[in-house]
Amino acid sequence: MRTLNDMETFTVHVLEARGKNSPVVQAALNLVQLSDGPVEFRYHEWTMPEPKDALPIDVIPKKIKDPYRFKANWGPLLKIEESRSEVNLASEKKLVPDPYSWISEDNSELKRRLEWIADDFYAATGADRQHSMVVVLTTENNENNYFAVPDLFGKQWSFIQSNHPVTRLMAAPHLPIAYELLAMPLRHFAFGDLETFTNYLHINESIGCLNDFFANLREMDRKLKSADICDRCLGRIRAVGVPYALLRQTQEGLERIRVYQQNLRNLLNDFELPKLELGYHLKISNTGSLIQLAPKQLAVYALFAEHPEGIRISHVPDHLNRLDYWYRKFNTRSSDDSETIDRTVRSLAFNDADDLSQTISKLNRKIRASMSQVSSAEPYLIQGPNGEAKKIAAAASNLINFAP
Ligand SMILES: [Zn+2]
Repeated sequence: MRTLNDMETFTVHVLEARGKNSPVVQAALNLVQLSDGPVEFRYHEWTMPEPKDALPIDVIPKKIKDPYRFKANWGPLLKIEESRSEVNLASEKKLVPDPYSWISEDNSELKRRLEWIADDFYAATGADRQHSMVVVLTTENNENNYFAVPDLFGKQWSFIQSNHPVTRLMAAPHLPIAYELLAMPLRHFAFGDLETFTNYLHINESIGCLNDFFANLREMDRKLKSADICDRCLGRIRAVGVPYALLRQTQEGLERIRVYQQNLRNLLNDFELPKLELGYHLKISNTGSLIQLAPKQLAVYALFAEHPEGIRISHVPDHLNRLDYWYRKFNTRSSDDSETIDRTVRSLAFNDADDLSQTISKLNRKIRASMSQVSSAEPYLIQGPNGEAKKIAAAASNLINFAP
């Protein structure tokens, strides 16, 4: 097994299919990049092949199917074929319909595809394969409903299914993704082969450890709440000589996730109110969740956030300069010339062809969609009766901060 010297660095290349740019992934990266240490997380938009037989997700399975088969599922292909025919025979005998039969990509196919993506990535970028690994973010269901599988085959790839049912069972879906991202390098150094990993994998009980992949997904948040590594797994980490700096970076990151998870609980129990941070994204500070708004939407939101007393739509032209200031701040497209920007801002301020009204209703919709799981979004929307001032109620109680 590979080791890491005290002074060495290690890069985790996070690959997401081109054009996806999911807010949960961005929020997860945002979080894991906060901890300093030997590991660096780098995001890449990557063109990757999609599985041929992928079906859309239409059910939320709450369990990992047949957890005892992990080793067989990921072992040599021959073994998989064997265990598959056993399963088929068994189900044929019982004539019970398989509730997972809609699940698309089979494990050997997935394994081949990920290996191809990793080879392609290293060939195309020339990245140092000895000192890095690839985490591929997949969005297809896999045969046994695995959420994340570490680098176990010496090929430097691992995967996380970024739209996995576990993320949909959680009110802040970026937290389990951030957790698995953070855990990958530590697992690579201490548990980075199939034999070792299955020896340390906790799958029959939920104990809140790093290697806890309890089959009941509803309890997956236990490890997020505990930020813990059990004594046995810690013993292994010590025995293989993982540098303390790497362990510390991982633990710091897990601790940050634990705090967010705790905040989330407080929001859900109405002990706390969400605080929004207005920067290049709108962010729920309590949990680190991102609400992705377009530059126009951010500019309008910033203007109304500065005016807790409200502004009538017909009076927005009085604030043309300020709107222009905010739009220029958030619009990072360098291709736009000053005239184009002027035109955009004027059209917005004068509500040409309902430009402003539509921008407001679009941004309200995004905020509502992102906040509905944790809190009532109403106080955070720009709203007011027709013809009267529109305002963000939360702006009056300092629940919106500027953090550009
Ligand atoms: Zn453990």
